[in-house]
Amino acid sequence: MPAADEMLELARGRAGDLAAPGLSPRPRRGVAVLACMDTRLDLFAMLGLQRGDAHIIRNAGGLATDDAIRSLSVSQRLLGTTEVVVVMHDGCGLHGASEDRFAQALAADGILPSWRLGAFEDVEATLRHSLVRLRSSRELPAREQIRGFVFNPESGVLREVRSEDEPERPNR
Ligand SMILES: [Zn+2]
Repeated sequence: MPAADEMLELARGRAGDLAAPGLSPRPRRGVAVLACMDTRLDLFAMLGLQRGDAHIIRNAGGLATDDAIRSLSVSQRLLGTTEVVVVMHDGCGLHGASEDRFAQALAADGILPSWRLGAFEDVEATLRHSLVRLRSSRELPAREQIRGFVFNPESGVLREVRSEDEPERPNR
């Protein structure tokens, strides 16, 4: 049985639990989370989120791609969020992947995509790069609170990564 069929059947039986009558689409906590799609990241448990609290934007790597910025822009400009949290992780599938081999495999199928795989060698450096990009993205009107975390799926530890352009936070 395809997973999609199981999912549909389960959802059909749980409409009462899934319904959120009257819940605002505007994130209650004013946060948008950009995170890797990795199965081991349970963002709701990790960040203490409830349904309705935050936008969750996920892609391979949790990278600040053009499309992630599109979603964050919608989140801020149309739905009122003012804070961004980026979550990458140790052991990411993009860590040490080969940009060239991936491109060659696509090219062999006649595909020349406009996007790149986003392979990286250093998760913290890559996260810092994303933070710098987001802080300089004028698509986002609220850029004072943009923070970056790396999760270790083995230990469960979440650590913060700071970038050089980060504003001082003297009260922490
Ligand atoms: Zn990942």
